[in-house]
Amino acid sequence: MTLPPARQFTGNGPQLEAMSRPSSAGGGGLGAGKAAGGGKHGGTGGGAAAAAVAAGLSSVAVPGSAAPSSALPLGLPGQSPELTALFECPVCFDYVLPPILQCQAGHLVCNQCRQKLSCCPTCRGPLSPSIRNLAMEKVASTLPFPCKYSSSGCPLSLHHSEKPDHEEVCEFRPYTCPCPGATCKWHGSLEAVMPHLMHAHKSITTLQGEDIVFLATDINLPGAVDWVMMQSCFSHHFMLVLEKQEKYEGHQQFFAVVLLIGTRKQAENFAYRLELNGNRRRLTWEATPRSIHDGVAAAIMNSDCLVFDTSIAHLFADNGNLGINVTISMC
Ligand SMILES: [Zn+2]
Ligand SMILES: [Zn+2]
Ligand SMILES: [Zn+2]
Ligand SMILES: [Zn+2]
Repeated sequence: MTLPPARQFTGNGPQLEAMSRPSSAGGGGLGAGKAAGGGKHGGTGGGAAAAAVAAGLSSVAVPGSAAPSSALPLGLPGQSPELTALFECPVCFDYVLPPILQCQAGHLVCNQCRQKLSCCPTCRGPLSPSIRNLAMEKVASTLPFPCKYSSSGCPLSLHHSEKPDHEEVCEFRPYTCPCPGATCKWHGSLEAVMPHLMHAHKSITTLQGEDIVFLATDINLPGAVDWVMMQSCFSHHFMLVLEKQEKYEGHQQFFAVVLLIGTRKQAENFAYRLELNGNRRRLTWEATPRSIHDGVAAAIMNSDCLVFDTSIAHLFADNGNLGINVTISMC
């Protein structure tokens, strides 16, 4: 991080140029950028989204500080949309956050886009060797940045170091298709999940009732296999997933989990029990259903589900078919 003085100077010059640009672009900068982002994330109503962003920013403003635009320069904790807009990536409209790298002429691009680009999107000049912009990094550290899902209604603005963790759990993040395996690219609102499943995944069977048997057939099929079914009870829909995969090389395991088609908060109202039963043996797992917002992959990654290996499966299987008793209760 010890750049020679000359380099640091080239870094600062274009930065000033960059800072003057958006103010000349007028006040609509942030709203316009976020409306574009809303399209990408499947949000609706750009106008409402822009208002939500503004509300988010004003909620973090220091009380009593009017934040006049003439007081922009760096000393104040940031509550300025104009200042935040300076960090917009020219390619994806997400924010350019530390480590902030610039092209040789001083243009910024976010790190995700930078990895896909062979030259600067603004001047077509070379992107390497990378030049770090420490001054912009310092400014970024004084500013709250709106959550990536602000266009979907999230009112939060956060320090850039807290943004990724929040966005991972943000309740405004669009839902993806809960079916295991990454083949279906659908995403949308929670309300649209069930219609999507019924329309695009017609082969999934649904059983009614809080106490059912999930029958997985041909569990000896080679390779990674998923068995999926739906269970409806307590006016909610649950997805039952049994997945066979090789998490550790040469060691096939089964993972069984119940997901609620609902939010994490709604899932807390329920408990589920999975039980393998037969041949004078019993294996039970009880837990809170996972929200489909968290997904199956995370449950399997953390082994936060019923886990058993192929030899245990054979103890309970009957002709290659495995019945899992599933009981859902309210708590
Ligand atoms: Zn970008
Ligand atoms: Zn450039
Ligand atoms: Zn959020
Ligand atoms: Zn799907």
